[in-house]
Amino acid sequence: MTDKHIVCHSGGHSSALVAIEVARKFGAENVVLLNHDMHFSVEHADIKRFKQEIADYLGLPLTIASRRNATQDQFDVCVEAGAFKVGNGSELCTSRLKTEPFYEWLAANAPPTESVVYYGFDNTPKERERMQRRTGVLGSMGYRTDYPLVTWGDRSILATEEVGIARPSTYETFTHGNCIGCLKAGWQHWYIVYCTRMDIWLKGKWAEEEIGYAIHYDNGQPVYLEDMEPRFASMKAAGVPATEHIPQQRFWAQARKIVPIHDIQQRMDLPCDCHQI
Ligand code: SF4
Repeated sequence: MTDKHIVCHSGGHSSALVAIEVARKFGAENVVLLNHDMHFSVEHADIKRFKQEIADYLGLPLTIASRRNATQDQFDVCVEAGAFKVGNGSELCTSRLKTEPFYEWLAANAPPTESVVYYGFDNTPKERERMQRRTGVLGSMGYRTDYPLVTWGDRSILATEEVGIARPSTYETFTHGNCIGCLKAGWQHWYIVYCTRMDIWLKGKWAEEEIGYAIHYDNGQPVYLEDMEPRFASMKAAGVPATEHIPQQRFWAQARKIVPIHDIQQRMDLPCDCHQI
């Protein structure tokens, strides 16, 4: 039996490169492009454009593994559950919107003995940690995993622009393709949300009020979005750029010249684990 090569096609640039590499190596007919289509309000239209263009380039359909109630975003699922985190402290939205639909899809469509699951992790210490975790979790379910950007020596493509597909415009502002208003992201991400997506900022405030907890805990203390509003307003008025491309240390050093920000954690913005599924 020919293996089924399942690429976790998140809509990010790295996983698109993996999709192309895997299809070139094993034949597109043996590849599944698995995606979680996130609610249009939090997944940028240009990410939707990008993942479809990659699928079209490979001549493959996008295989969607989404939560049955596709009208829900990360805030809705948390409010429905009355919590932002699950028991082990990880984000509930990851579990509801990505991990659970992924495992359901695998169970229904991909026998472990005939399937290999591919991720777009890079060769950085953090990503190597995540690779180990994914290898362990999926391995315990009987699945093989592979990480072509790290484990395959020769690469046939380094940028999707080589095949005429521009990466999502969101990379001009963000460093990852996470949901906008990511519940795992730090304050620098949320400053961008405040400056550019007041609708999502307000939805975050609504969710905090409904649940009675803050999305952010800094130094063990809750810091509500509302607490940050006056500071973000001053930063915005002073022209602090809304981007993830300024390194955190420099970004907050600039912010501190304008407002007292000593109590917030400079949490590293990471790609959502679920982002790569
Ligand atoms: S990208 Fe962020 S907000 Fe979206 S599901 Fe993952 S943790 Fe939640």
